[in-house]
Amino acid sequence: MNIGNHYIGLIEKYRDRLPVSKDTRLISLGEGATPLIRLQNIPRALGKQVELYVKFEGLNPTGSFKDRGMTLAVTKAVEAGSGAIICASTGNTSAAAAAYAARAGIACFVVIPDGKIALGKLAQAMIHGAVVIQIQGNFDAGMALVKQVANEAPVTIVNSINPFRLQGQKTAAFEIIDALGAAPDFHCLPVGNAGNITAHWIGYCEYSSVSGKNVTAACTFCHGQCAFVHGAVAISRPKMVGYQAAGSAPFLRGAMVDNPETVATAIRIGHPQSWDQAWKVKEESGGWFDECTDEEILAAQKLLAGKEGVFCEPASATSLAGALRDIKTGKIPEGSRVVCTLTGHGLKDPDTAIKQSKDPLHKVKAELAAVKKAILENMPR
Ligand SMILES: *Cc1c(COP(=O)(O)O)cnc(C)c1O
Repeated sequence: MNIGNHYIGLIEKYRDRLPVSKDTRLISLGEGATPLIRLQNIPRALGKQVELYVKFEGLNPTGSFKDRGMTLAVTKAVEAGSGAIICASTGNTSAAAAAYAARAGIACFVVIPDGKIALGKLAQAMIHGAVVIQIQGNFDAGMALVKQVANEAPVTIVNSINPFRLQGQKTAAFEIIDALGAAPDFHCLPVGNAGNITAHWIGYCEYSSVSGKNVTAACTFCHGQCAFVHGAVAISRPKMVGYQAAGSAPFLRGAMVDNPETVATAIRIGHPQSWDQAWKVKEESGGWFDECTDEEILAAQKLLAGKEGVFCEPASATSLAGALRDIKTGKIPEGSRVVCTLTGHGLKDPDTAIKQSKDPLHKVKAELAAVKKAILENMPR
């Protein structure tokens, strides 16, 4: 129940655009309504006139955008009478699934890769009481197994192949238009399974429209669900830009990648589940795919944390790393309004953050002179 103006989550907020009825029991943790932060110091240092924003999805209840999709996927699973959910995960999906299952009072099974899962994400799945199944294989192997097992056991898949996931995730685009009064010119995202870039495009197609043009013609995703804007004429849509980690970039190779590798474990995916959809998003929006090296990704993560006070996980920084490069080269021209999605919180992966911070610690005696020396030696000049 909504009391006064108390925000109670994205399903309630965008109820008329989501597949729920007035009787549906909502499984929510207050997800969504994340901040859209305008960057100041990074664009200034770059010397480029761009309006650059980050949508900090790390501030969702379990620390990633996966909560947007999970609130609806679990709501619909419960509505359909399911008593158990399952997912394959590089970490954040399992954290979200575990939390929303706990909230709903149903069972949760998560299939995670052997190693290469950030510590915070594993901690979340465990503390929320999920059954954690660690396989001797990567995410893609886990995904294939989950699809098979869901045919043989009474479990609902809550990976992004579950259509309710993308329906929930599209609300991020609604929030951006609500905040800016229009769509940005460019929307940059990290791409793993490509569910999120697809979901954003669904949201932009539904919520805005092109002046003088009818949205219906271009929107191939809604399957009639966005009937309320079809025929309406309104504003614009962004070019969608998807960045991948170089060692894990099937959209750049133009083919699946069998042994994906990257420090950005959340996008260490070689067989994207939304392959066809993401190509359509690129075509329809006039955007592009590109790749970033692990060095570029970590540098962007550190830059954002050090210059703007925003701490995202490595995979999330891929959007900023790519955007900064494309702003520098002019591929994203001056005068543009750009939104980068920061998909997850930096606290998810403390190991990587500590490893790449030089000068992290000054170990000194517990004496005034020693502490004073450490301060004076490290004063900015
Ligand atoms: C899931 C995830 C991604 C990738 O999103 P896709 O929808 O799989 O493309 C990127 N970053 C983080 C932090 C994630 O958890």
